[in-house]
Order: sequence, then C-alpha cells, then structure tokens
Amino acid sequence: MTSIKSAPDTAPTSDTFDSLDPATGEVVGTHPVNDAAHVQAAVATARKEAERWRALGFAGRKKELDAWRRLIAGRMEELARVMSAETGKPHGDALMEIALAVDHLAWAAGHAEKVLKRRSVNPGLLMVNQAASVEYRPLGVVGVIGPWNYPAFTPMGSIAYALAAGNTVVFKPSEHTPGVGVWLAETFAEAVGRPVFQVVTGFGETGAALTSAGVDKVAFTGSTATGKRVMAACAETLTPVVIEAGGKDALLVDADADVAEAADAALWGACSNAGQTCAGVERVYVHEQVYDAFLAELVASAEKLKAEPGGQVGPITMPSQVDIIRRHIDDALARGGRALVGGPVPEGARFVQPTVLVDVPEDSAAVQEETFGPTVTVAKVRSMDEAIERANGTRFALGSTVYSKARGMEIAEQLRAGMTAINGVISFAGVPTLPFGGVGDSGFGRIHGPDGLREFTYPHAIARQRFKPPIALTTFRRSTKEEQTLLKVVKGLYGRGK
Ligand code: NDP
Repeated sequence: MTSIKSAPDTAPTSDTFDSLDPATGEVVGTHPVNDAAHVQAAVATARKEAERWRALGFAGRKKELDAWRRLIAGRMEELARVMSAETGKPHGDALMEIALAVDHLAWAAGHAEKVLKRRSVNPGLLMVNQAASVEYRPLGVVGVIGPWNYPAFTPMGSIAYALAAGNTVVFKPSEHTPGVGVWLAETFAEAVGRPVFQVVTGFGETGAALTSAGVDKVAFTGSTATGKRVMAACAETLTPVVIEAGGKDALLVDADADVAEAADAALWGACSNAGQTCAGVERVYVHEQVYDAFLAELVASAEKLKAEPGGQVGPITMPSQVDIIRRHIDDALARGGRALVGGPVPEGARFVQPTVLVDVPEDSAAVQEETFGPTVTVAKVRSMDEAIERANGTRFALGSTVYSKARGMEIAEQLRAGMTAINGVISFAGVPTLPFGGVGDSGFGRIHGPDGLREFTYPHAIARQRFKPPIALTTFRRSTKEEQTLLKVVKGLYGRGK
C-alpha cells in the first residue's frame, strides 16, 4: 500500500478526505480539503512568484524545468506506484503515461523560446516604414483542474507548457488522484525550491474556488457538463479557459486495411486504461468487405483479455462510472444490440470486462455518449463515405483513427476531429509537436506543441517606425493629395488581377 502525505505547504484545513484504491476500496492517502481561503492564498503566492519566474527568461526556466524533469524521470517507478494505487492502473501503463509526460515536459522546456520569443513579421506594403514584431508573453497565474484517468499525463499537458511559457501554476487534481498531484508538486519543490507550481486538494468546491480565485487562465479536463460550469464561473471575471472535455472517438476500417492490426488497435484503444481515455476508441465502423474478418479477430483477442486484479485491464477508477457503463450496455442490449464479448455489468462490480457490442442503434447512448469504460460498438458500413458520416455524427469531436492502406490521409481529412491517427492508435497524443484538443462538446483550446505553449500566453505586437511614411495617414495633417495617392496605390495593388 502506498501512503501519500499532503504537501507541507498545504496546511490541513478543517477537513480531510481519503484517496482510495479503486480495486479494493482501501485507503491509500489522506489529504486536506482546501477551502476557498486556502486556494486564494495559493494563488496569491503564485502571483508573487510570477514576476521572478517570468524574469528568469527561457534559459533560466529551462534549467529549472530540466531539473524537475530529471527528478521525475529518475523516480518514475515511485510515481507509477502512487498512480496505480489511486487509479488501479497496471504498473506498466502508469510507467508509459509518466514517460509521455516527461517527454512533453522536456519538449515544452526546450522549445518555449523558439516558439514564443519576439520575432519579426512582415509589415505589409502599406506599412512598409514599420518594423513589426510579436512575442508571446506569459499570462501570470494559470489554474489547472485535472482528471483522474491520466492524472499525470493530462494535467502535465497544461502544467509543463504553462510553466515553460513563463506562468506560475496552481493545480487542483481530481479528488480520486490527489496523491499524484501532491507528488508532482513535492518533486517540483525539491527540484526548484520555490512555490512556482503548487497543488491544492479537495473536491469540486476546491476546483470551483480555483476558477474564481483571480487566476489568469483556467485549463480544465473532465466532463462536458463540469466544463460548462467552469466556463460559466470564468465568465464572471472574463478569465479565459481551455476545455478538454472528452470524446466518443471512432476507428474506421477500410476494405484494404490490415485487419489484424486494426482489430488489435481497436481493442487496445477501447480497453487500455479500462477504457477511461478521453481519446479512447468507443466506436468502430468497418467496411462490409472486411467486417466479418475484423470482428473475428477482435472477438478472439477480446475474449482473452480480462479485467482483474493484476491483469492488463484494471478496475474502474471512479465508482459512479460503473453505473454509466452499465446503463450504456443495458440500453444497447435492450434496443436490439448483441454483446459478442462481455455483457451486462453485475451490481457492485469494481471491474468491467472488455465488451464488444454489435447491431447497436446509432442513436443509442452507447454510440452517442461518452461511456468511459472497456466497451466498443462495431458497425458494418457499405462505404468509407458512410463510415465518415457516422463517425462525424456525434456532438463530440476529439480524436479519431483510420486503418487504410491507400486512403488514410483522404479519409482523415474528412473527419471532424481535433486529431487523427492513421494505421496507429492515439499516436498523436505522444507526439510533442502536435496540438491536442477537440471541437464541439469535446471542448476547445489546445495543449501540447507550439499551440499548447501559445495557449498560456498573450501576444504582444509592436510596430516600430523605421522611417517617416511616404504617405502620412495617421495624422490630422493628412492632405487630400495624400488620400488620392492612397486611393491609387490600393486600386493598383488590390483592384486588379483575378
Ligand atoms: P468532472 O468533470 O466532474 O471533474 C473533472 C475535474 O473537475 C475534477 O478535478 C473535479 O474535481 C473538478 N470539478 C468538479 N466540479 C467542479 C467545479 N464546479 N468547478 C471546478 N472544478 C470542478 O469529471 P468526473 O471526474 O466526475 O467524471 C465524469 C465524467 O467526465 C466521466 O464519466 C467521463 O465521461 C468524463 N471525464 C473525461 C475526462 C477527459 O479526459 N476528458 C477525464 C475525466 C472524466 P473532483 O474530482 O474533486 O470532483
């Protein structure tokens, strides 16, 4: 059992809460329920630190973030144990998640300068006398509200990028994974020695307190419903937000696809992390020419996969999620669907068995709503046009996957999604240069890559006059003759041609 103490600077308030092992219900850590006053104090501390952190510059911040990165990488097994204890995630999966988080931290620290430093831009013909430039400045203090499903990788997509861009950060981890948040803040304190990155723990109220504590931006990952509440709270103070709100991702299998690879990807995409992946595979659309072969491969592999203690599929981290998964499966079966693998979820279950559903009506919950469990619906399509139409037919639009030898790019370009993996699954999330985020009910804004760095900044534009303009426009001394010249120039430049 891993017991996790709260960070020393998070003085216990009137209340504490327990973090539980979802496989057993055993207590694995106890943490303070930080109230609004505590959250405000953390934000005030972060505000004080913000100027020093900004003034360190890119090189100075990189040095500090590199020290933190080395510390995390050196102690990954320890963090993986904390993570597995709180989420039930297999140790290997936890290690993989941390490895990706470390990679993003290294990328963000190493590329912030190139992406954000002041650069010259073309002033255009009408303003040729100006030297134009833009730089991306830190916003100040960023509040990060994290989920429990990838308690290190997902919030680090905001934390690492916000810090590298020159912001200080206050992080509210999910009530299910406070220990991971505390571990990250403690190692940061050990590496950097200043409260540039702090954690506050508690329930939804603590997260709500963070949204109204005067931060300069909120980065939220979680459900669409809570995302709307976060956005409404932020609207009061015109605080900008990034919302990463989950998905209902589809995998499309073309007639020429490598069927065995596609089936393997569908199973891993649907069931890894017990299906609790925002960009996990929840629906599959298969060309009729390979439908039977695909299904046979998928069913054969899914039957061998078991959700069990110490197995490749862990428990459902958030107990209430089991009810949602059960409802989706029951509804699919009641409406004519068939479970080729798995089936109804027993009452009181902590583990949900891999489930393959077919013949499920397109408007049912299992096809339209986020299930967040190790389940997948598979449907036969007559053409890839039909697959694309059905894949694009939910309110969500986060990730997507295409298996096709000849038409991967062509199909990908027609998908309404923030990201697409071709002949691979969720690969986009591990590429630090690619932005991650969705549209529609999946949210907006981006983490990762240059877009993810810019997300935590504001652009500062400067136009510096290099010489007096040939036609002086921005003065009351402007003459009619100069206006006529402008008219001629604009007509000459833009009034002709195709
Ligand atoms: P929530 O959206 O309720 O919670 C996400 C985070 O927001 C948690 O840290 C939570 O804290 C915090 N929070 C809750 N209420 C507020 C509030 N009013 N203001 C600010 N922060 C708040 O998700 P759940 O964990 O309850 O999961 C529900 C569903 O969300 C799942 O069924 C799944 O479908 C989806 N989900 C999607 C994720 C993704 O990756 N996009 C990740 C997790 C869930 P606390 O945990 O302490 O309540």
